[in-house]
Amino acid sequence: MTQLSEGSAGAEQLALEFGGRTHYGQLIAPYLTDDVRSCSFCDYLHPLVLLEGRFCYLTLAIGQIVRGYAQICPYAHRTSAAALEAEEVSEVLTMKALVRKAFVTVYGSRGVVIENGRPAPARWGAATAANARSLDYHTHIHCIPAAVDIRPDLRRVATEYAVGSMDDLRALRTETFAGGPYMFFETVEGEGYVYPIDGLDLPSQFLRTCVARRLGVEERGDWRRHPGMEMIAEARRELVPVVRVLWEQTGDQR
Ligand SMILES: [Zn+2]
Repeated sequence: MTQLSEGSAGAEQLALEFGGRTHYGQLIAPYLTDDVRSCSFCDYLHPLVLLEGRFCYLTLAIGQIVRGYAQICPYAHRTSAAALEAEEVSEVLTMKALVRKAFVTVYGSRGVVIENGRPAPARWGAATAANARSLDYHTHIHCIPAAVDIRPDLRRVATEYAVGSMDDLRALRTETFAGGPYMFFETVEGEGYVYPIDGLDLPSQFLRTCVARRLGVEERGDWRRHPGMEMIAEARRELVPVVRVLWEQTGDQR
């Protein structure tokens, strides 16, 4: 569970700057300054969490490019959606469908989905000397309530493969691009596309920046500088009642 930083001056300053008088500000500031060395997704920032399943949870993103920007995150420290176990994939897909329904109700758009898939060696979670670096990354599937198409931006840097949906990722990765890193994008209509990026030197937060640029708010691609703290309380208020009712309707998920 999350522990608030005991407070370096940097974190405290940021907390104030980004509305640190709220518990969201206090919670998030240490992650913006790297004052915590743990994984923010294993840490499970409870006040941001919208929904808890058996294998994954739904949380508001630090870095609200638009209000309601959410992330589906497996509890297990996996490095990509393509590395999830079958039952984890199943719940991720249920949650993804649910979020998109909630987005329609609350924001009038099904939104889009993105994921950064990292190298596979650590995908089953056991750290070794060889995979220590790749284990560093804990995957999260971004669900963004905005009708935006970043495929032209992605095609400019990588080859595009159409996939039926996210559950085809694993097969594609195993059979087609052998465990390398990839970007995933799912359109408003729910069509999935994968872009292998092995050997490419893309800037950090590339996918987020593509989305932010298309929305005319490029600066918000950088979650550290623009955490969007001011949107979080409202997003929670809007989304929690809707996602929880929809979750109840999914039945035996827990
Ligand atoms: Zn983690």
